[in-house]
Amino acid sequence: MVPTPTHIRRNRIASAAIPVLGFSDWEYDMLDEVLVYPRTFDGSFGYDGTGRAETEGLVGGTGGAFNRVLALSRGDLFRGFRGPGDKANVGIHEFAHLVDKGDGAVDGIPAAMPREAIRPWLELMHRELRRHVRGRSDIPEYAFTNEQEFFAVLSEYFFESPDGLAENHPALHEMLCKAFRQDTLRRLRAAHRAGAAPPRRRQIRRRAGRAHRIPT
Ligand SMILES: [Zn+2]
Repeated sequence: MVPTPTHIRRNRIASAAIPVLGFSDWEYDMLDEVLVYPRTFDGSFGYDGTGRAETEGLVGGTGGAFNRVLALSRGDLFRGFRGPGDKANVGIHEFAHLVDKGDGAVDGIPAAMPREAIRPWLELMHRELRRHVRGRSDIPEYAFTNEQEFFAVLSEYFFESPDGLAENHPALHEMLCKAFRQDTLRRLRAAHRAGAAPPRRRQIRRRAGRAHRIPT
């Protein structure tokens, strides 16, 4: 299916809304502009139309020329919502970075994380990063780049496959419930009880070289 402008507008809104459904008064006040490129682009927000660049989504770094800008590749944004359960959604990933940035710093500690949960979250995150063995985790590899990517990739997992995250990594699921102030597993079960079909476990491989870099 070829995404229409309506699809893209809805996907963009959903990407922004889903991470903050649990907050009573959240504003993306660190965001002025969302750029949607026709294809992938480079890590400096450059676009030459060839598709050779590999960046699917990007949040501008604090203090840089693209601070307060978020960019997404149109096709990848669309595909993120076409594969429920595959733990991959670049729109949610990038807006999760903004939830992280809500306190001014993109550091893997989300702005709304309760104060008493910050230390346990850091300990848990650092333990996962330390003991990671390449190819041995069901958590997508890109999570193990650094703290901020760990939070953003886990956010994709949390919203796309809450049952899998809760089953395989209950402590991480519990922490993300605190970070986003919503329980995605409970929401998924309620949807199933209401008759929604369970997500198809489509195995969509991430493109090699997928990147969500935050320029510093
Ligand atoms: Zn990222």
